[in-house]
Amino acid sequence: MSAFYIPSDNISRLSESATIAVSSRARALRAAGRTILDLGSGEPDFDTPEFIRRAAQDAIDAGATRYTATEGILPLREAIAAEANGRTRGVQMVTPGDVVVSTGSKQSLFNACFCLFGPGDEVLVPTPGWTSYYEIVELARAKPVPVLGDPARGFKVSVDLLERAATSATRGLILNSPCNPTGAVYSREELSAILELADGKGWWVIGDEIYRHLYYGEGGPAPSLLEVAESREKLVVIDGVAKAYAMTGWRIGWSIAPHALATSMKALQSHVTSNPATPSQYAALAALREERLAHAAIAEMRDAFRQRRDAALAIFAEMEDMRVVAPDGAFYLYVGVGEAASPDEEDAGTVFARRLLDDYGVAVVPGSAFLTPDWIRMSYAAPLEDVVEGATRLARLYAAGSGMARVVA
Ligand code: PLP
Repeated sequence: MSAFYIPSDNISRLSESATIAVSSRARALRAAGRTILDLGSGEPDFDTPEFIRRAAQDAIDAGATRYTATEGILPLREAIAAEANGRTRGVQMVTPGDVVVSTGSKQSLFNACFCLFGPGDEVLVPTPGWTSYYEIVELARAKPVPVLGDPARGFKVSVDLLERAATSATRGLILNSPCNPTGAVYSREELSAILELADGKGWWVIGDEIYRHLYYGEGGPAPSLLEVAESREKLVVIDGVAKAYAMTGWRIGWSIAPHALATSMKALQSHVTSNPATPSQYAALAALREERLAHAAIAEMRDAFRQRRDAALAIFAEMEDMRVVAPDGAFYLYVGVGEAASPDEEDAGTVFARRLLDDYGVAVVPGSAFLTPDWIRMSYAAPLEDVVEGATRLARLYAAGSGMARVVA
């Protein structure tokens, strides 16, 4: 580090995204000639569907290469609002003015947290939770409060657990369903109960529904907060095209928020990135408008994910005592790999992930990234044969030791 560079207070507690760090290490090993099975990645291994790519190319040829409104092109926001209104039972109609399209849903989350929370505020984060929630809340100078979910229920949090973690400084919570890293999905009843609690306490609820379409349960997309909310007064719903449409690199996400908050988020974004990339917005518009094609593309990818999930779960089912969250959504398996023998020792997940990468050539993400250090996250967004081979090697390492003592040895 340069002798002249002293990080500002803004970022003094920031750490690099652990999920990205694993991918970088796997890439480095690959560059050095090793064959690595990458089960660390948080992105679909499919190409963006052809009709979406074509829409972007057509848009570029038609001149969609300039700035747009900060909050995104109106037809896209109209399409987002129309789709949302199909879910809200008519409760407080979503207007295009409530929608802000951003450079990925990560920016939407940042916008929401930065506009809603500040010093002295506490934000409940069901844990394990996606690594960036904690950092984004910190960047807003608020305090993320991890709320450990119930391992027996896929680490989902209950009203009771949330209430116990709350203080008079609690201002909101971030709810992710389907969840990264566990794949757990909240039922309509569970979502309703949490909204009711938040309403009674005056908390904001930020719902991250980016994996909504990757749901393996009955009856279509996973339950959404928009379907059960009695009011949208303190509700922000985050979504995007990255995961369901295999469009991670296009960087399009959005928020649906009460109008006054959407206006603030737009103002913030206007000084940070301006509009999200124009051709990407037209690609996202095609994804939402061409419902029949999109439906078919999503169904094909979801079926492939389901097959891979089932194949990996079948391998893990052979392992006595192995703790695995059986996921109803997203494309991750969360696996318990032991317990640290003492607080001074490196955590079990990190040790396991490192050995799995270095000795078995499989990249996964240590659970410390999600504040549950005795677990690892294995992604099944990879070809079936890689998932099967990776899960087999993971099981082999697991079998080589039970718990931390033998993993460490
Ligand atoms: N939310 C969750 C739970 C995620 O796992 C991710 C990406 O890994 C994101 C948001 C960010 O998605 P985007 O690519 O739209 O920024």
